[in-house]
Amino acid sequence: MAKITLSNLRHSYLANPSGPADFALKEIDLDWQDGGAYALLGPSGCGKSTLLNIISGLLTPSDGRILFDDRDVTDLPPDQRNIAQVFQFPVIYDTMTVRENLAFPLRNRGVNEAKIAERVAEIAEMLEVEEMLDTRAAHLSPDNKQKISMGRGLVRDDVNVVMFDEPLTVIDPHLKWKLRSKLKELHQRVKATMIYVTHDQTEALTFADQVVVMQEGEIVQIGTPVELFERPQHTFVGHFIGSPGMNILPATVEGEQVLFHGQPIPVEGRLSGEGGTTELGVRPEFVSLAENGVPARVRKVADVGRHAVVEAMVGNTSVKAVVDHANLEQGAEVHLAFRQDQTRLYRDGWIATEAAS
Ligand code: ATP
Repeated sequence: MAKITLSNLRHSYLANPSGPADFALKEIDLDWQDGGAYALLGPSGCGKSTLLNIISGLLTPSDGRILFDDRDVTDLPPDQRNIAQVFQFPVIYDTMTVRENLAFPLRNRGVNEAKIAERVAEIAEMLEVEEMLDTRAAHLSPDNKQKISMGRGLVRDDVNVVMFDEPLTVIDPHLKWKLRSKLKELHQRVKATMIYVTHDQTEALTFADQVVVMQEGEIVQIGTPVELFERPQHTFVGHFIGSPGMNILPATVEGEQVLFHGQPIPVEGRLSGEGGTTELGVRPEFVSLAENGVPARVRKVADVGRHAVVEAMVGNTSVKAVVDHANLEQGAEVHLAFRQDQTRLYRDGWIATEAAS
């Protein structure tokens, strides 16, 4: 397994790019530690596949270098990079048995039969597919096919990295959570460097120790699931992660005071930077209904099981609050309180408050 470094990486699909908008990847610098579990998360078109293809060698970047353990692999073709990939659709041979499918990547590399048997047994046990080892792959359900496809990616112990590209796309929703937690468990047992590409926040946050959030060809934040939830560095991260996402509210700054619809709102700490378009960010989980606070009118209450999401209007701005339960009529007048240590200022999208120490 290897540490992976991406240095000053940029990519344009155009022959003569003339500005940042012509780049599918704008400027990527990353260090991925050996044995880590990482996710690349972002909406469709943000550049995830481009980055994955550059790491696997299917695409040569316009600029920058890719290093595996400090060895420059930028000019190496895919077959010399020693990477295992699991794709959206299962890649298995229908005419082979599960055992033969799992053994295939090892047989291909001339591994001896005793070692193959040992490794296949190990992976089958981890995936809980021992009883199907002698079944023909054609007879498997789609989720078991994808499990075997994952097994083929994990069976070699000499790869630099295992990359998963939206691997749960074809899995039934009710089975997704099973495979999701299985993958996390597999990483803990195999301890390989793994990169998981997805547009689904639940998949990314369940799997990865560190999530790389991308938007329009740029990395907007790298962090643990907790960091992304608690302290989004950019409003995009705040909005994209969480359900519902962070409230991003229009704000003005007067000296050290932040105002929302004319009301002073205490924020987490000192303000930094200056100018720009200013917004307040506070997650619905940290907005409560209080005696005192910003006057608002209830627009909608959605019961979502253990709690309710109240949407209230402050002037023409919608603010969401997650509350335990709410017996509120549409149109009711309420007051909203924002938890100070979880309320942040953003300038032109980027965080502009320093947490109080
Ligand atoms: P998705 O989840 O939809 O695959 P993504 O995050 O993987 O999206 P990419 O496929 O990497 O994003 O695309 C990034 C940008 O590059 C997009 O604007 C896309 O239109 C463009 N792009 C991707 N592949 C090509 C190509 N072969 N030629 C030209 N432009 C491309």
